[in-house]
Amino acid sequence: MSSIVAYHRPNSLGEAVELLAESGRSILAGGTAIVPEARSRRADGVELVDLQALELDSISESAGRLTLGAMVRLGDLATDDRSGQLINDLSRRELPSAMRNQATVGGTVASASSDSVLIAGLLVHDAEVEFHDGRTSPLSQVLADGTGGAIIVAVSIDPTGTGSIVATGRTPADLPIVAAIARSTDGGTRVAITGASSTVVEVDPAEPSAGLEPPSDFRGSSGYRVELVDTLTQRVLKAVS
Ligand SMILES: Cc1cc2nc3c(=O)[nH]c(=O)nc-3n(C[C@H](O)[C@H](O)[C@H](O)COP(=O)(O)OP(=O)(O)OC[C@H]3O[C@@H](n4cnc5c(N)ncnc54)[C@H](O)[C@@H]3O)c2cc1C
Repeated sequence: MSSIVAYHRPNSLGEAVELLAESGRSILAGGTAIVPEARSRRADGVELVDLQALELDSISESAGRLTLGAMVRLGDLATDDRSGQLINDLSRRELPSAMRNQATVGGTVASASSDSVLIAGLLVHDAEVEFHDGRTSPLSQVLADGTGGAIIVAVSIDPTGTGSIVATGRTPADLPIVAAIARSTDGGTRVAITGASSTVVEVDPAEPSAGLEPPSDFRGSSGYRVELVDTLTQRVLKAVS
């Protein structure tokens, strides 16, 4: 039996905040992670608060930055001309195609998967996360601290520069074991790494594995992942130089 016991569809951000103040309620965005999780893990039942009527699904430009609404679908981001080739490519690499048309920017950031190549791309594009109460935080801080139950309303990025990804997976179609994502601008080169820590991390391009202690799993040992971080970073730096 499903443990999703109620569905709410607020028409304003204020209404969503009020609904989420009750315990036992969770945000529903694209539902690709929360729905299976709610069905399998919440024996006590969960109520979902759907953000889709809040008009958070547009992309806008202002003062050289691009603001991605939290409900922008990864499938739309994959083809958005303003986001740049790297963000297009990383959105396309995330999830199977049917799920990309459901999954959202906000849900991806809130899920904070350590394997997310899109999160790595957002990091090197200087991402700032905007919350319902007007606060903004660097994405790196949100990955470290979590959302604290706040609603992400948008993620803004600097879309300029050229970027690349170099990744190693068990098969080309599989989730990378480790991926190195770089973006180069006049101000320098930034590199972020997936699969080498509990969250996606931005690293020093000169010493990419410094301080990293990757977890081991069936896809690769900790030592193998450290080797991959150094090798893939060298390759991605060459690709953007
Ligand atoms: C088969 C499969 C493959 C997957 N592959 C990948 C993968 O390759 N890479 C990857 O990173 N993830 C993967 N995932 C996990 C998940 O699908 C993604 O993280 C997805 O991007 C989540 O987005 P969503 O919009 O569907 O979020 P939802 O499932 O709706 O929500 C996910 C979580 O984020 C919270 N949330 C959603 N929106 C907001 C918001 N605006 N503000 C605050 N909190 C919010 C929800 O409450 C929930 O806790 C996979 C899942 C499955 C089932």
